Amino acid sequence: MHIEGENKLPEQALRNAVKEGFTDFIQKWMENGEAKYLNAAKNAINNCSHHIVFSFRDLIHHNADLAGCIFGDYYKFEPVINEALTQFMLEFEKTILHEEGRRDEDSKETYECSFDDGYDDGLKDSVRGLKCQYLGKLIKLKGTVTRTSEVRPELKIGIFKCRTCGKLSKEIVQQFKYTEPKKCSTENCDRNSWELEMSRCTFADFQKIRVQEDPTKIPPGAMPRSIDVILRNEFTEKGQPGDICEIIGYLCVLP
Ligand SMILES: [Zn+2]
Repeated sequence: MHIEGENKLPEQALRNAVKEGFTDFIQKWMENGEAKYLNAAKNAINNCSHHIVFSFRDLIHHNADLAGCIFGDYYKFEPVINEALTQFMLEFEKTILHEEGRRDEDSKETYECSFDDGYDDGLKDSVRGLKCQYLGKLIKLKGTVTRTSEVRPELKIGIFKCRTCGKLSKEIVQQFKYTEPKKCSTENCDRNSWELEMSRCTFADFQKIRVQEDPTKIPPGAMPRSIDVILRNEFTEKGQPGDICEIIGYLCVLP
């Protein structure tokens, strides 16, 4: 599958094409005669892990157009490839359970992708080089951890209950700030007061760390620069102040 002429595809068609292309990559990528990511999927299921690390280069070799699309706008496509992985994993798990004669249960688990590398073209891993041209792209940078926050729960998908009529809202995806539904869907219910329906929400572990640029990248006489990095789930509590780290993620602007 090719994602040529991506600019011409309507938004939803582009998302569907990325999802399909990424599922194809998970199923078909071979290394040393073995389906590398089917093995990774099996290991994740056996270890109850909800996270698979993919190789940046594998994806480029598998389908360069798809890779360019995903890495060039990672902020937009991360939820799409996570959805592709989740859907694939839930079906794969069912097949395995079936093969082993075990009963399958409908699972509501979600899975997340990450990559072992990112664009460093021109950026040279430096905090100092982070300009707006890198917004939303998958990038890599190196530095030293100088500060870490506590790990806290973060609301990722909220479902709210109307305080007036009791109706539940649809899923509201939270993007860095607490977002309530705009309006109750019950006819004539114009009150706008919501209660979070905790048991139906999705939460993630969340930690903020501060990373200071690599000392070798500081120009003579300049002060070192830092950036705040948000870590989630399996990446929380991985580093302490003083640790040298390599971060792969995307640059975003917080509201
Ligand atoms: Zn209502």
